[in-house]
Amino acid sequence: MKRLFFGGIHPKYNKEMSTTVTTLHTIEPRTVVIPLLQHIGAPCQSLVQVGKKVRLGEKIGDGEGLCVPVHASVSGTVVAIEPRPHVSGREVMSVVIENDGKDTAVPFTPNDTPLENLDTDTVLHRIREAGIVGMGGAAFPGNVKALSAMGNVDTLIANACECEPYITADDSLLRTTPEPVLQGMQILTRVLHPKRVVLAVEDNKAEAIEKLRGLLPGYPGIELAVLPTRYPQGAEKQLIQALTGREVEPGKLPVSVNCAVFNVSTFAAIYRAVRLGQPLTQRIVTVSGEAIAEPQNFIVRIGTPFEDLIKRAGGLHDRTERVISGGPMMGFAQKDLSVPVVKATNSILCLLRDENGAAENPVCLRCGKCVVVCPMRLQPLYMYRFVKAGRVDELQRLNVLDCIECGSCAFTCPGKLPLVEKFREGKKLVREAQTK
Ligand code: SF4
Ligand code: SF4
Repeated sequence: MKRLFFGGIHPKYNKEMSTTVTTLHTIEPRTVVIPLLQHIGAPCQSLVQVGKKVRLGEKIGDGEGLCVPVHASVSGTVVAIEPRPHVSGREVMSVVIENDGKDTAVPFTPNDTPLENLDTDTVLHRIREAGIVGMGGAAFPGNVKALSAMGNVDTLIANACECEPYITADDSLLRTTPEPVLQGMQILTRVLHPKRVVLAVEDNKAEAIEKLRGLLPGYPGIELAVLPTRYPQGAEKQLIQALTGREVEPGKLPVSVNCAVFNVSTFAAIYRAVRLGQPLTQRIVTVSGEAIAEPQNFIVRIGTPFEDLIKRAGGLHDRTERVISGGPMMGFAQKDLSVPVVKATNSILCLLRDENGAAENPVCLRCGKCVVVCPMRLQPLYMYRFVKAGRVDELQRLNVLDCIECGSCAFTCPGKLPLVEKFREGKKLVREAQTK
């Protein structure tokens, strides 16, 4: 099959597992836990106190600088403001709200200004006030990303590749409600004035592609790019290469090659913020894997504990080995299932055993397979060796910070070396050295 970016692999995708249930069910948590840090940047300060009654959509945390607010995803009473377990593995100060089940909402202010009269300040302000972050996993504040792209991009990309195995949240969004995505794209096109606007999807999403093809005549200027499925095509730099042939240099951002990439769920959230005045309080989450009884996608309120969703999906198999936030390649294993869904949570993956787990006595066979598949053109075998030796100078020379932790090398490695785990350690070592 044609390869549009360097490296990459073909893992078993297992996507059909969560798409047989076609209805997007909702879930009503008894309490929600809203972390005051769900984005890259400075944490929010709480704007509420214990005992306060809050409404759905009410702003309950905000801050200065690189920061976007967080909102109540239910109506009810604040019962605690305290550090709680977070998907990052750390404890994060969180607002805990007991759901009164009434969904009493703050008034949302719609904006139906014709697209050609929509002004940039209004769009950016609404994106910020709605607390929008990159929903594909990056969690970078949406207003800041849009602002930094202004005047600097000729290509705007909507990323619907969703290349990680098992995850079908974006696919479900496109199959059920694609219009908000396309309208969100029109809004950012109005702000960024790109020459090319493209929605990129992999060719394993036939139903979504058919739906989009039916709608696109109503959205002139938006191009649909159907790409051959290959992991990690959904990573920003690889997607840009696949679509434009441009390569983002080590340490640089997409804007350096005049591109801006937003996830399709982010575009839908931008539409809701700008047109409907609604903050980001819910998202689609895939609950899947061999260890869950009824894999499917849900519409989930931000702050819903993982354990509530797992129960709603029929519960875990007795032989469950791991529950992961995200996909099997780039996700993070969770020890505590009371952790809440955050804005960037696209999947809860429940696995019976570790397909790519490290061997008891991992050994490098010097086969070079990891080098061939690395989409960032890195040298995983040497990086592994230098992390073990604590050689920060060599790790810097080998651009370890450029590792996107895609796991392609570990997936391919016949020696079963814990490569990604080591590269996370290596990146930490380099960052610490740079701080000193
Ligand atoms: S995890 Fe890092 S080193 Fe391994 S293939 Fe991906 S980018 Fe390359
Ligand atoms: S794929 Fe694994 S065994 Fe082969 S060279 Fe790379 S690290 Fe060594």
